[in-house]
Amino acid sequence: MLTEFDLIQHFFSNAVKPRSDVVLGIGDDCAIVDITSPQQLAVSIDTLVSGVHFPIDTTPSDIGYKSLAVNLSDLAAMGASPAWVTLALTLPRADPAWLEGFCEGFFSLANAHDVTLIGGDTTRGPLSITIQAHGLVPKNTAITRSGAAVGDLIYVTHTLGDAGLALAHRLHGQDIPFEYRSVLLNRLNRPTPRVREGLRLRGIANAMIDISDGLVADLGHILEQSDVSATVYIEKIPLSTALLAAVCRDEAYRLALTAGDDYELCFTVPPHKKALLENECADFAITCIGEITAHHDKSMALNLRYLNGESYPLTHRGYLHF
Ligand code: ADP
Ligand code: MG
Repeated sequence: MLTEFDLIQHFFSNAVKPRSDVVLGIGDDCAIVDITSPQQLAVSIDTLVSGVHFPIDTTPSDIGYKSLAVNLSDLAAMGASPAWVTLALTLPRADPAWLEGFCEGFFSLANAHDVTLIGGDTTRGPLSITIQAHGLVPKNTAITRSGAAVGDLIYVTHTLGDAGLALAHRLHGQDIPFEYRSVLLNRLNRPTPRVREGLRLRGIANAMIDISDGLVADLGHILEQSDVSATVYIEKIPLSTALLAAVCRDEAYRLALTAGDDYELCFTVPPHKKALLENECADFAITCIGEITAHHDKSMALNLRYLNGESYPLTHRGYLHF
């Protein structure tokens, strides 16, 4: 019989590869880390509940990976460098095979980003994973949601809508051509936190957010907190070959605008830094999709248009939990 302490020791303490700034990791009442003074600490927490944030039949390895990925994505969206995480795990039972898979997914991503698991909590109950992530950012260089200015160009990383399609496939049997199935499911189950992109955008982007609830909802947060409006050109939204192979263009736009789970970054850049951006981010996939404008009608801050100037009718917004 696996006790709580055996479980922590076997699956977590033994699996950790500590960073050099971890003075005391798992095993005491608190962890102790060294913070170098000109840096600021960026802190974020996210909970993933089975059946809400991932389908109940998601593999343990994908759950381990994704629960860390969404937290690293929040740090990326501030331009923070990930350092330490804590993990609160609620499990229906101490199932070694499940824990093995979870840890494989979790630590593969943690090690790739030199992130150390420094503590946590383990309880029994319906499956739920809460991770608190800690990152470092040089003083006053974090990229917030509130910095967008009129005239800024709006960019997104990679492609949007893939995870939304994969979720529709998992939940409603939406058809996906066989050759694209694994790449799309991977976008849902193992989103890539855009940490390197986020770090490179310090000193370039005025505002940034990660897209977890759909472009409309998340860009909406930038507009609200920056007190500006925006025009986004529908045809400029980057869509993957896989998405376009599976659904018609209109449905692809709808998914890109309203489906969550992509974990791409959306950021705004002042026009005089466009050349700097293109130079610094030449090795990243980024696409300009529109621009920040002054309010015309504050209640309709986001104007979605076709390139010919016609407005795009949007029927439903991103995911809302309540
Ligand atoms: P306490 O009772 O002092 O809160 P616990 O018995 O909950 O301590 O945990 C013992 C140690 O194991 C602590 O250092 C805690 O941070 C760590 N820990 C517990 N659960 C986890 C977990 N799921 N992942 C990582 N560390 C954990
Ligand atoms: Mg204690």
